[in-house]
Amino acid sequence: MKKRKLLGVGISLSLPLLLLLPAQSERNGSPLSAANAPAVVIDGAQIWDGTGRPPIRDAILVIRGARVEALGPRGSVQAPQDAVTIPAKGKTIIPGLINTHGHVGMTKGLKSARENYTRDNVVSQLKQYARYGVTTIMSLGTDFEPMSEIRGAARPEEPVRATVFTAGRGFTGKNGYPAVLPGNAGVPREVDTIEEVQSQVQELARQKVDMVKIWVDDHWGHYSKIRPELYRAIIAEAHKHNLRVMAHLFYLEDAKELVKAGLDGMAHSVRDREVDGELIQALKARKTFAVPTLVREESTFIYAEPPAFLDDPFFSRWADPLVVRQLKDPAYGARIKSDPDFSRYPGQLKTGQKNLKKLWDAGVTIALGSDSGPPARFQGFFEHRELELMVQAGLTPAQALLAATSNAAEALKISRDFGTLEKGKRADLILLDADPLQDIRNTRKIHKIWIGGREVD
Ligand SMILES: [Zn+2]
Repeated sequence: MKKRKLLGVGISLSLPLLLLLPAQSERNGSPLSAANAPAVVIDGAQIWDGTGRPPIRDAILVIRGARVEALGPRGSVQAPQDAVTIPAKGKTIIPGLINTHGHVGMTKGLKSARENYTRDNVVSQLKQYARYGVTTIMSLGTDFEPMSEIRGAARPEEPVRATVFTAGRGFTGKNGYPAVLPGNAGVPREVDTIEEVQSQVQELARQKVDMVKIWVDDHWGHYSKIRPELYRAIIAEAHKHNLRVMAHLFYLEDAKELVKAGLDGMAHSVRDREVDGELIQALKARKTFAVPTLVREESTFIYAEPPAFLDDPFFSRWADPLVVRQLKDPAYGARIKSDPDFSRYPGQLKTGQKNLKKLWDAGVTIALGSDSGPPARFQGFFEHRELELMVQAGLTPAQALLAATSNAAEALKISRDFGTLEKGKRADLILLDADPLQDIRNTRKIHKIWIGGREVD
C-alpha cells in the first residue's frame, strides 16, 4: 500500500512539479515586469502606507519597475526627470489588498467542479481579483495543476493579475466534510491513517506549497469530521518540513485543540459560540492568526432575497449577467431558504463579528480573508464587503485596512515584499478617489491600481 503510493502519487506528480517551480525568491515578486517602462510619479495624494504610521499628506510616490522607488511628503522626494506624472490631489493611496483565504479555478457560473480547473479559468479569476485591487491571494486548499506554473507573481510576458500563493490540495478525513458536498469529490485529500498523512504532507513539501490546509468541521453534525489524531499528525509533519498550517474550523472546542496542536492560522471565525480567555491566551502564546471570513457567513443567507448589491455598478460592472439573473430568480431564493440550517446562519455571522472584535481587542493578529471563489462568493467584490463587515463588527477603518495589508502579509510570511508601501517593496497599490479612513466604503472608489508596478486596466 505504502509502496504503491510512493511510486504512483509521489514520483509521478511531484517530480515534474519540482522542475517547474522557480526558486522561492523569484516567485515572491522580484521579476521586474515593468523594468523598461518609465517611472511613474503619483503627485499630491495622501498615502496610508499600511505600517500603522499616520497617513502622509500631500505626498509623492515614485514607482520604478516592479517596485516603489521612493515615497514621502512633497519636498522630501526628488521626482525623476523621465517620469510619467499622475496628478492625485484629494486622492488616497493604500497598499493592494491581500486576501489570505480565497479560491480560484473551480467555479464557472454558479457551479463548482473539478473539470472547471483550467489555466484560463484560474488566470481569468486572478484578473478579476486584480480589477478590485485585491493584489495578492492565498488559494486555500483546492488547487490542481497547472497551479505550479501559475503560482507567484505574474511573469513579465503574462497579463497583469493578482499574485497567488497556494496550499495545493488540503486535507479532510475519509468521506469527510467538504469532500462529500456536490462538486467536491476528489478535491480535498481524504486521509484515514497516519502513514497516509505523512506521505501526503511529504508530497506537498516536495511541491513547495506555501501553506497546508485542513478542514475540521461536520457542518452541525451532518457530515463526518477528521479525527484529532490525524490533524495533529498533519500539523506535526507539516512543521517538520517548515510548512505552516491553516484550518477551516467552526467550533470553539476544535479551535482550542487545533491551536494546542500548533495551528498557525484559523481560516474562519469560531462561529458556534463566543471565544473565551483560554482560546485567546493560546492564540497569543502560539502567535496563531485569525481570519474572520465574515462575508462567507453572509453569503449563506443573503441570497434568500436578491441583495441590493446585485444592482450596484461596483459589483455588476464585472459580474456575469447570467449569474446575476439566476441570483434574482425567486427559485434561487427559495432554495436558499429551504436549507434546514437556514435560520442558524445570520447568528453565525453575528457570532463571528463579536469574536472578531474580541480577538482584535485582545491583541490577536487578524488577517483579512473572504473565502471568495466558490459559487456566488464573488472574487474582488467580496473583499470590499469583508472590510465593511469588519468595520460593522467594531474595528476602525484603519484597523480593517491593517488586517488587509500588513497583518495579512505577516500572516502569510510575505512581508519582506508585500503588505506595506515602503522604499524597495513591491509596487502593489490602489489610488482611491476618496479617503477610506473616513468611510471604509471608499475603498470602492478606485481610480487606478498597480500590481508589481504595472497598471491594471
Ligand atoms: Zn475556503
